[in-house]
Amino acid sequence: MNIILFGAPGAGKGTQAKILVEKYGIPQISTGDMFREAITNGTELGKKAKSFMDAGNLVPDDVTIGIVEERLSKKDCENGFILDGFPRTIHQAEELAKILEKQNKDIDKVVVLEVRDGEIVERITGRRISKKTGKIYHIKHNPPVDENEEDIYQRDDDNETAVVTRLAEYKNQTAPLFDYYKDLGKTVIINGEQEVGKITEDILKILNSL
Ligand code: AMP
Repeated sequence: MNIILFGAPGAGKGTQAKILVEKYGIPQISTGDMFREAITNGTELGKKAKSFMDAGNLVPDDVTIGIVEERLSKKDCENGFILDGFPRTIHQAEELAKILEKQNKDIDKVVVLEVRDGEIVERITGRRISKKTGKIYHIKHNPPVDENEEDIYQRDDDNETAVVTRLAEYKNQTAPLFDYYKDLGKTVIINGEQEVGKITEDILKILNSL
């Protein structure tokens, strides 16, 4: 099963991806996580991505598409994958289609998590993450047991300044992809403002019927 999780930053893609990984045993491919890991490890890729990410801008397509192509060719993607945060531009989507065609694969569904703009900033600025497990929390709605615990951190770009740019990038570059995939008959819209468990339920209903 080859899935794209689509939606604005903070729509809940990462949270749902982690649940689907457990459920289906297929990998989550998060370009954001790959960039953050590269930054932590001080690699060339990390150096290329960091300034774009910190400002809330998209990392250039040539850098991004390359890492996805390499990742998708790994053995653990043979039975499926969950793309989280990729593609984010029409060009990326077109290149993805070419990569998958070479591998005799296709996207089965684009799951769109719909969340109103007003919700996004509050969600992102309150987001906290566990270093150990990658689990995503929110200081108000789903607080970690001890938010001062060393394990809990806030992403560098989860601040109000970067969020404004990230939302603008989403509107200008990423949102047009909705029509791109709709025209291919692949989109399904899920209300992303429900309880996490209800969102999962809605997604599973769709995926189980594939
Ligand atoms: P995310 O973790 O998905 O919110 O991504 C965090 C940041 O990584 C984004 O704001 C971009 O700077 C960069 N990034 C992640 N995925 C992509 C992508 N597909 N294309 C360009 N930049 C990306």
